Amino acid sequence: MEQIIPKKPISVESNWQKELAKSFTDPTKLLDFLDLDSKNYRQHIKARRLFPMRVPRHFAHLIEKGNPNDPLLKQVMPLSDEFVSEPGYTQDPLEEHDTAGRGVLHKYDSRVLLMVKTGCAVNCRYCFRRHFPYQDNAVSKRQWDDALAYIASHPNINEVIFSGGDPLMANDNQLAWLAEEIAAIHHVKRLRIHTRLPVVLPERIDHAFTTWLTRLPLQTVLVLHANH
Ligand code: SF4
Repeated sequence: MEQIIPKKPISVESNWQKELAKSFTDPTKLLDFLDLDSKNYRQHIKARRLFPMRVPRHFAHLIEKGNPNDPLLKQVMPLSDEFVSEPGYTQDPLEEHDTAGRGVLHKYDSRVLLMVKTGCAVNCRYCFRRHFPYQDNAVSKRQWDDALAYIASHPNINEVIFSGGDPLMANDNQLAWLAEEIAAIHHVKRLRIHTRLPVVLPERIDHAFTTWLTRLPLQTVLVLHANH
C-alpha cells in the first residue's frame, strides 16, 4: 500500500520484511529443501504461471520433510489440476467486483471491507481471490481519503475490516495512519483485521504492530486464517 503517505519515513527494513524476502518462490528450491524429488513435480510446477508460488521459511519449516502428502505442502504447492476448468465454476465466486469506491467493498449495511494491501506472504493454491484484479484496485492517498469520507457519510457502518490480500503486508506507519483516521469517525466502533501472517510469518506480530494496535480507541479483533 505504498500509496498511503506514512507519518514518518521508514528508515530501516523491519525484521519481518527481511524474513519475508527470504521466502521460497521457486518450487524446485522448496522441493529440494523438503527432500522431495522435483522430477516428480514437472507437470505441477507449470501451474505457477497461473498463480506464483510464495512460501515463507517459517511455514516451510512446518512441512514434514520427505512427505509429498503433507497437508501444509498441499496448500502451497502448484498443481497441474489448476489448469482444469469445470463447467459451473467461476473465477469470481463472491462477485466482489462491485465496490463502493477504490479498495472498498460494502456488502453489509453495518460493516465495510477495505482492501488495504494487495499481496500476501503466502500464496494459497485454493485462494478464492487468486483471480481478483488487484492491479486495478491499487489505492492512492486521495482514494483513501475518499474511502474515509465514504465511511464517515454512512452512519450505519460500525465496523471496518482490514483485508486484502493480507493487510498486515502493509507497514505499520501505513496501517496506523489508516486505523487512526478510521478511529476518528465517531460511528465506527470496531476494527477487524483478517490475516494469515501470524501463522505463516509470526515475526510480523512485533512491538511496532502491537503498539499502534493497542492504542486505538476501538474494539479490535484479529481474525486468523489457519488451515491444517
Ligand atoms: S493468505 Fe488468504 S488472501 Fe492470501 S493467498 Fe492465502 S487465502 Fe488468499
